[in-house]
Amino acid sequence: MSDRTQITTPDSLEEDAGTETSLRPQRLAEFIGQTKVREALSIAIQAATQRREALDHILFHGPPGLGKTTLAALLAREMGVNFKSTSGPILEKPADLVGILTNQREGDILFIDEIHRLRPIIEEFLYPAMEDWQIEIRLSDGPKAQTMTMKIERFTLVGATTRFGLLTAPMRARFGIVERLNFYPAEELATIVRRSADILGVETSEEGALEIARRSRGTPRVANRLLRRVRDYAEVRAGGSIDSKVAQDALKMLDVDEYGLDEMDARVLKTIIEKFEGGPVGLNSLAVALGEDATTLEEVYEPFLIMEGFLMRTPQGRVATPRAFRRFGYTLKGPGGKGGDQASLFTGEE
Ligand code: ADP
Repeated sequence: MSDRTQITTPDSLEEDAGTETSLRPQRLAEFIGQTKVREALSIAIQAATQRREALDHILFHGPPGLGKTTLAALLAREMGVNFKSTSGPILEKPADLVGILTNQREGDILFIDEIHRLRPIIEEFLYPAMEDWQIEIRLSDGPKAQTMTMKIERFTLVGATTRFGLLTAPMRARFGIVERLNFYPAEELATIVRRSADILGVETSEEGALEIARRSRGTPRVANRLLRRVRDYAEVRAGGSIDSKVAQDALKMLDVDEYGLDEMDARVLKTIIEKFEGGPVGLNSLAVALGEDATTLEEVYEPFLIMEGFLMRTPQGRVATPRAFRRFGYTLKGPGGKGGDQASLFTGEE
């Protein structure tokens, strides 16, 4: 694996595990950005607290590393309730949830990450729990198995998914609050970098923080990861503090893409340019060419590329923009040899 993939992939890595916990905002007021989401949550918290009720079930969706888990945990803190966390793929049978659900107190939060990967049998088991606060427990095996219905306390299920489109309709319908998290603009990421730098005890100038923020793919997890790398560099080579020059030198040495693109982003764009002459290409053909599934492409990778102006969705299909051509060193030639907005021809490599 190259340095670049290690640094820019937004999935969580083991090396993040320790510091990720300490860098996580603990209260809603410390959570930077996502104003709309924060507002909706703060109203929901106030209303639930006033009525002395559990929060409605909440679903967060959006690309990895944007703060879904963080929000779930801080909701529990704001509400003063217990927090249990699990994830779709590790739940094998309803029995795995029985203990948690029967031990929960009113208002407690159960967080299920990657909720689109729940097995159907678990989903079925959860529906009455979410709606009628009761679960069915099987007392024996086999087709004539006896079951027992058990009441549980009103709890709040917080689900997170990077793949909203894969969530079943009945599951979606059971969430009272559905919020999408979006990529963070560089200024907000810079604030996150400065906050993290404070916690890690490393001096960082505004420009230094912005330099890191700009290459973080709109993603706090990536920003924190880059900050840790730049901090190492600063400590060894630059007396420990991060200014614009130190950040630039460190990021250059680490071979971090100046636009924040990661390896998969680059593959998507290069495939459109090299195999489909810049597009338009249909989502499914592109997915096949990349060996990736179409929904992942659409929900996880495309939003960032579109936001950054590297990719366009048109009625005819996906199109690589002139910016994408330039990023990979292709010279644009529009129809008739003139530079055009949309490249139908291209020449040259690097
Ligand atoms: P997700 O669950 O969406 O993959 P996480 O909640 O695990 O993302 O967030 C990844 C890391 O990014 C967290 O450890 C946290 O430190 C940081 N982070 C995410 N959102 C914010 C934010 N709004 N402000 C500050 N830090 C954040």
